[in-house]
Amino acid sequence: MKCRYAGAAALAAAIFAIDSFTMLSSAVAVLYVLVLILIGDTASERTIRATAAGCIALALFSFFYGHDDAVALDAVLRLVFSVAAVLATAFIVLKRLADQQTVASQAELLDVTSDAIFLTDVAGRVIYWNHGAEALYGWSFDEAYGQDPHALLATRSAPSRSAIRGALAREGSWEGEVTQTTRDGRTIHVFSRLRRRTEPGRYEGTTLETNTDITQRKAAIEALSQSEQRFRTIFETLAVAIWEHDLRPVKAELDALRAEGVEDLAQHLGQRPELLRRIRASVRITDVNSTGLRLMGVSSKEEFFTHLDGFLTDPDEDFIAFLLALDAGAPHFQSEAGIRTRQGELLRVLVAFNFPPPELLDRVQASVLNITERIRVQEALQRTRGQLDHALRAATIGEVSASIAHEINQPLAAISAHAAAAGRWMDRDPPNLAEVRASLDAAGAAAHHASQVVRRVRSFMTKVEPERTRLDVDALVEEAMRLVQGEIVSHGVALAPVLEADGVAVEGDRIMLQQVLINLITNAVQAMHATPAGERRIALRTWRAGGRVGIEVRDSGPGFGAEAAQKAFEPFFTTKAGGMGLGLAMCRTIVNAHDGEIRIDIPGDDAPGGRISITLPVAGRAAPGF
Ligand code: ADP
Repeated sequence: MKCRYAGAAALAAAIFAIDSFTMLSSAVAVLYVLVLILIGDTASERTIRATAAGCIALALFSFFYGHDDAVALDAVLRLVFSVAAVLATAFIVLKRLADQQTVASQAELLDVTSDAIFLTDVAGRVIYWNHGAEALYGWSFDEAYGQDPHALLATRSAPSRSAIRGALAREGSWEGEVTQTTRDGRTIHVFSRLRRRTEPGRYEGTTLETNTDITQRKAAIEALSQSEQRFRTIFETLAVAIWEHDLRPVKAELDALRAEGVEDLAQHLGQRPELLRRIRASVRITDVNSTGLRLMGVSSKEEFFTHLDGFLTDPDEDFIAFLLALDAGAPHFQSEAGIRTRQGELLRVLVAFNFPPPELLDRVQASVLNITERIRVQEALQRTRGQLDHALRAATIGEVSASIAHEINQPLAAISAHAAAAGRWMDRDPPNLAEVRASLDAAGAAAHHASQVVRRVRSFMTKVEPERTRLDVDALVEEAMRLVQGEIVSHGVALAPVLEADGVAVEGDRIMLQQVLINLITNAVQAMHATPAGERRIALRTWRAGGRVGIEVRDSGPGFGAEAAQKAFEPFFTTKAGGMGLGLAMCRTIVNAHDGEIRIDIPGDDAPGGRISITLPVAGRAAPGF
């Protein structure tokens, strides 16, 4: 560069010397343009200007130096011509410099971009390789230079390379996605734009290739499409019917009403069925899943209802509630609705909406669950329950009457026995009127007991709380013994009471507890019907153990059979010809109602026979009703 400047200076000096000191009457100064051309490639704009000014100054100096007196016109013309030539050359050199600077900055731009850009010559060899290409592929410009880039990058594309070359030759350009491999072995996806340069000149026939790395974008799109696919599968295969609505027109209607100043939207809509109908008609159905198609009896999405009012039954309170929820910006809404299938079948469904943000109101999904069958089953269940209630009432009535019959059998038998006895005393000669009275009194007492039994059993069956009073246990047992006295005697049974409850009281219903004892004693008497007359014995025992009091009825009969021991407390279990199997069931119910327990005891080897015992809690000191 320095050489050039030195050469230029020498040239300028030589031209100046010839121009000033020789007598050549020609335009030597024109040669100054050579100085400018010599430095034009490398000098800066300022240097070029200064050099041009210097050359003109030298030409002027030479002119005035050689023509100090008379100036010939042809000499002036030569000067003007030379100066014009220098100026024109300076202008051209400066223009070229500016062009070069523009090209250089444009080339820099190619390096600034993150796209990989390279240029291949007519033979397909790399002649330019920008920084982006170095960064993306890992090969430097020097390494890539002169190579076939697609061999280097193992480019794979859907159309073959020869097809791409064909397209380039025909159309001058091609673009599409290709897969390439970087220096470190990574596979990348790039969007490639190829342009064949046809402008005549140095670059004619070269191909400029711009590649944008889309690996991440492609992965994101792939992930998105997979997730979309996944949700689509869920949407399609869900057991719940789903359809999508475009609710934008509805929201617009509601917003318009608000803008008009409607404050009570519920009332406003409630009074305008036409408006309601119009709003409903504006709801477009945009998608439906397979379950939805099946539910509505439609075979394809294309044939599905286009609008909500195609299948929703008349607008009602629920639709207004839905509109209010949408208007209020509620996050969800759920309600029952009536819909009509394509075949006209009326279904009840549970509809649940999740309202998206307002900008997504064009695709609002509703999950729809068919509850028609459930409602039908519920109604059937309701009906059956009603029928069952009726049957239960009938059964209860039967049970009450059976229980009453069972419980008054014993007093009735007693009454007739006492009446017969009274008759016999009357037939005596002379009649024993005192005994007649005693028998009649006993008959009267039995009748009174019977009536009380009926009352209690009825109140018990109708779940009236038993009357609770404080009862002396031994006194209770003695009273029961008196009531069955006739039966005991008539069957020749020996009754041996051992009453050791020592004035302990229980809290309970006297008649009911007496009834329990009468039942147990009667069972014992009946169990011994096959026992020889002299061996019929009933041992009645009471005792106290801690907070409880026990009563035991023990007979000398055959004892409970294996099945009876298991099932005796079950209603209607009986081993007797005329038995009803209710006695022990009632005993257990009554004893349990008194927080007590009743059980069949296993008899000892030394003392066989039926053995049944009751335990009841001892009454507290300040028991109510005492
Ligand atoms: P029912 O007296 O009408 O048969 P219960 O409920 O009073 O009904 O008795 C059920 C069954 O328990 C009787 O049929 C009988 O087999 C058995 N049972 C009750 N008491 C005794 C007893 N003391 N000894 C033997 N078996 C008894």
